[in-house]
Amino acid sequence: MTHDMNLYEEPFQMIRNGTKTVELRLNDEKRRKIHIGDQIFFHNSSDEYDVIRCKVTDLIAEDDFYRLYEHFSPVEMGYEEGEKADPADMYEYYPKEKIDEYGVLGIVIEKMDEPYLVDSHMHLEYGPLSTDYVMAFVSEAVKKGLDEIDILDHTHRFKEFEACYEHLRRYEQQDAWLHQKTKFCNTLDDYRKLIAEVKQMDLPIRVKFGLEVCYTENTEDLLKDILKDTDFDFLTGAIHSVDGILYDMSFSDGLLWDQKDTGEIYRRYYEIALSLIRSGLFDRFAHPDQLKLAGRDPDYDLSDTYHRIAEALKQMDMYGENNSGIAYRYGHQDIGISDEMLKIFKEHKVKMITASDAHKPEDVGTLIREATFRARGGQE
Ligand SMILES: [Zn+2]
Ligand SMILES: [Zn+2]
Repeated sequence: MTHDMNLYEEPFQMIRNGTKTVELRLNDEKRRKIHIGDQIFFHNSSDEYDVIRCKVTDLIAEDDFYRLYEHFSPVEMGYEEGEKADPADMYEYYPKEKIDEYGVLGIVIEKMDEPYLVDSHMHLEYGPLSTDYVMAFVSEAVKKGLDEIDILDHTHRFKEFEACYEHLRRYEQQDAWLHQKTKFCNTLDDYRKLIAEVKQMDLPIRVKFGLEVCYTENTEDLLKDILKDTDFDFLTGAIHSVDGILYDMSFSDGLLWDQKDTGEIYRRYYEIALSLIRSGLFDRFAHPDQLKLAGRDPDYDLSDTYHRIAEALKQMDMYGENNSGIAYRYGHQDIGISDEMLKIFKEHKVKMITASDAHKPEDVGTLIREATFRARGGQE
């Protein structure tokens, strides 16, 4: 069994560097489910996808922290070398009544090397909003050794967002695309109902639900209005069109790339990206440099642009996505964002999340290990 716990930066880093090997908690209902041999995912409270995987090697339950402290050295519990370990310090985290009610627990842990594997981006788009279909994604994730999947259908599945796509209809091909039966075929309530059902289930991994929101500057107010009443686990903002023209379709060469200057398309895309980030609507920015799938390079150097994007993401405390879809869905050499963008994101300490953009269960987790290594490997 696995358990998730959040930790502040300081104790989190002490576990990472191997000095802190005991986690002290209230022995409440949640902790009573922990057994020796279980795994605990410690999430950094300032970046929940910065995770340390630990194995539980021992559990010591006592009535209070005074007794519990006798079992461990101060450093093991997360004190500095030479610092006095006072059990009363724990009152800062847990009120005395709670300690009296539940007792306390010392969880002895051993750090494991295996990274936390999350695939944060997959679509139910070509199937029904049913628990069976969700379970097909979950099973594949378990098969691939993932610890978490995040499901996020596009806003163009849901009737509520139909008005946000009107501007695309001026081109026949785009209008036909919007007439596909997978578009605007459900309501957000259908989705909420599914989410509620899945959350009742006993799942082998963590499953979250959000939306991939097609952002444009002109529909920002409309989106704000629709999204203000939603409470999904997360919202991912994405750009799929530049000034009313989709850039990633089979017809995009004819409508966009052959019609406009590549440099101009890039400039506009990244202006829209800055608006997306600064809108404050989103937790994550999907496939930040997806424009490269067209295989056309702009006539100017992008590094200044990448710095501005990175600064904005950092400022808004948003995740940048390292989406492997670009590699296996579009045959691009990069497993996610480019080396240059990745380097600049790391320089600015942008939080990163990994994604496959799976559109069918068998694609869940594709290249996620590689994407994780690229996104997170250099941080430790
Ligand atoms: Zn997308
Ligand atoms: Zn997607």
